[in-house]
Amino acid sequence: MASLQPELEGFRQEVRKFAERAFREKAAHWDEEETFPVENRDLLAELGYLGLVIPEQYGGSGAPIIQATIFLEEVARVCFNTALICQLAINGPSRAIDVLASPEQKQRWLPKCVTGEHMIAIGISEPGAGSAMTDMVTSATPDGDHYVLKGEKAFCTGGHLATHILVFARFGECEGPRGIGALMIEKGTPGFEVSRPARKMGGRGMPEVELYFDNCRIPKEDILMVGDPTSTKSFKVLMSSFGPERVGNAAMCLGLAQGALDTAQSYSEERHQFGRPICEFQGIQWKIADMVTQIHASRLMVHHAAMNLKDGFPDPLDAAIAKLYANEMVQRVANEALQIHGHYGYTRDFPLERMVRDARGFALGGGTTEILRNTIASMTYKRPFNQRRD
Ligand SMILES: Cc1cc2nc3c(=O)[nH]c(=O)nc-3n(C[C@H](O)[C@H](O)[C@H](O)COP(=O)(O)OP(=O)(O)OC[C@H]3O[C@@H](n4cnc5c(N)ncnc54)[C@H](O)[C@@H]3O)c2cc1C
Repeated sequence: MASLQPELEGFRQEVRKFAERAFREKAAHWDEEETFPVENRDLLAELGYLGLVIPEQYGGSGAPIIQATIFLEEVARVCFNTALICQLAINGPSRAIDVLASPEQKQRWLPKCVTGEHMIAIGISEPGAGSAMTDMVTSATPDGDHYVLKGEKAFCTGGHLATHILVFARFGECEGPRGIGALMIEKGTPGFEVSRPARKMGGRGMPEVELYFDNCRIPKEDILMVGDPTSTKSFKVLMSSFGPERVGNAAMCLGLAQGALDTAQSYSEERHQFGRPICEFQGIQWKIADMVTQIHASRLMVHHAAMNLKDGFPDPLDAAIAKLYANEMVQRVANEALQIHGHYGYTRDFPLERMVRDARGFALGGGTTEILRNTIASMTYKRPFNQRRD
């Protein structure tokens, strides 16, 4: 088995105990009631976990990516909806702010992300620009001391609860990756509306919404990066700040898969058929063995991506490989864990049907598995396969 440095293994054990104690009991409740786990978010804030990777000078713990990865894995093992809160706080906008924002902006936003006073969601996708995000049309146009934001964003996780949204928008008349920059918009800004949450299959405590910007005036102090209409550089910088998001997504898959395996293993030792526990049938043992093998392979990939950093960020190829494998692994593992439970696994009295539903979304958000394959192929052939050819 892959072994971690003793202090990281100690951290894992500490988080495992904490997650079991704090999040296990109500994990099904958030799903069943389709409710955001506010009390879990507040507890995470109180204990400083929302600021795990935020630099110490802004009130966080400045933990390395590998530590955040282990944290996400252990929370997702117990409660997926709570892990989504952690993923947004750890690998979402605060990373981009740390990379892109001015010291004054960091001082304004980051300490409040640590305390939970600010919850920042991300608006990149649009109704007509999902995988092809560089087709985005939402625009930010200068007007005196402000920029005027106009457009629509789709699939924004937690956007209805957020105090702020980090929005990617097009600065100037241009197409493709040119001119894409980032700004912060605060809830309550005139012209900013949020849709009702979409009802979805999994992750039901943390739904997505659409965002509408009708000529919203954004003060210049809230622009993180003005897109350069003549160059693709600003877009590349923006995207690099989201590298850890893919590793975090893969870490949550790992945790969910481990939770499904643990549940299936226990059940197979308790459930008797033909006069013996079902774990004594080789057909069940092989399922468990295949699950253990796939989780182990995934963990090696995820931890490699979290530790093999370049300029402080995961290598994009490592991150794409780790996410692709984990996204497909978790669906296979959760499904087999349900199978081991027989009919009980298909009921809402057991956590497996929830886990199977929760596992499904990973392969869509943060880059679909098809787009990840294009990315891996692009890096192998050294040719861009995720771009338009007009
Ligand atoms: C749970 C969840 C949370 C999300 N949260 C956020 C968020 O907070 N903020 C945000 O901005 N976005 C968010 N998204 C949006 C996410 O980034 C998009 O769903 C994703 O980029 C895919 O876009 P799409 O859904 O429009 O699918 P499309 O791009 O329309 O793709 C449809 C299908 O075609 C395939 N496809 C497209 N292009 C290619 C190609 N070149 N080669 C092969 N296959 C291709 C896709 O893989 C997919 O199977 C979230 C999505 C999910 C599922």
